[in-house]
Amino acid sequence: MDLLELIIEYHKDNARQGPGSDEATLKPLSYIPSLNNQTKILDIGCGTGGQTITLAKNTAAHITAVDMPSQFLDKLMQRAKEDSLIDRITAKEMLMDNLSFEEGSFDVIWSEGAIYNIGFEKGLTLWKKYLKNDGYIAVSEISWLTDTRPEEIEEYWVNAYSEIDTIEAKLSVIEKCGYMPVAHFALDDKCWIDNYYQPLLENAEAFLRKYDYAPEVREFIDAGKEEAELYNRFKDYYSYVFYVGKKIR
Ligand code: SAH
Repeated sequence: MDLLELIIEYHKDNARQGPGSDEATLKPLSYIPSLNNQTKILDIGCGTGGQTITLAKNTAAHITAVDMPSQFLDKLMQRAKEDSLIDRITAKEMLMDNLSFEEGSFDVIWSEGAIYNIGFEKGLTLWKKYLKNDGYIAVSEISWLTDTRPEEIEEYWVNAYSEIDTIEAKLSVIEKCGYMPVAHFALDDKCWIDNYYQPLLENAEAFLRKYDYAPEVREFIDAGKEEAELYNRFKDYYSYVFYVGKKIR
């Protein structure tokens, strides 16, 4: 079993595949004016649809949700069905750096805990053409909360995601890419622990058992535990930060 298959198997039964919460989805939404039943939202890297369902329940918009593994999209549509939201959500299997939509199709581009897969700057640049003029982007991105931090955590994250940077630096990337920063805020502990690490860690033992404690599965689970432990030790220094921007050119 390769790493990607393990990741999909481990994450597919969870409500979220990254840190977040209903509140953390509703807050950025509150900065976007005139949402109505004509509004079109594109949710990129939707996972099993944590935020997609929240967006559908709290707006009258139509949401197109894209991700890669069909298992995630199937789960999303199952949830949409349970909540009678299938008319308002379209799921599409697509790569985030190879989207096929007409230019200017969307009023809002949403992406939680996912843009890092292609890089913040690349994502903001590539996705802009799908937004209408004056459209909005709402993305969460791992960011440093302080100007300096202990070497141990700096090394860990720079190695995991070289584009990790301060909020100030992220805001200038947003501007450079042709958006006006509208709002930003850091995700709280509940987003990370209660909604992300805890459900994953609770499943760890059953998951290991399922694969007979195979070394590569152990390694994968241990890496997750390490990430969660580092979060507990160093959470004052980094978080996902939600950025809302308005397309200006
Ligand atoms: N937004 C969800 C999922 C975040 S995890 C949540 O917050 O719960 C990141 C998601 O990005 C995963 O679902 C993963 O399958 C997806 N992803 C990673 N690389 C991708 C790519 N190149 N194209 C499309 N989706 C991708």
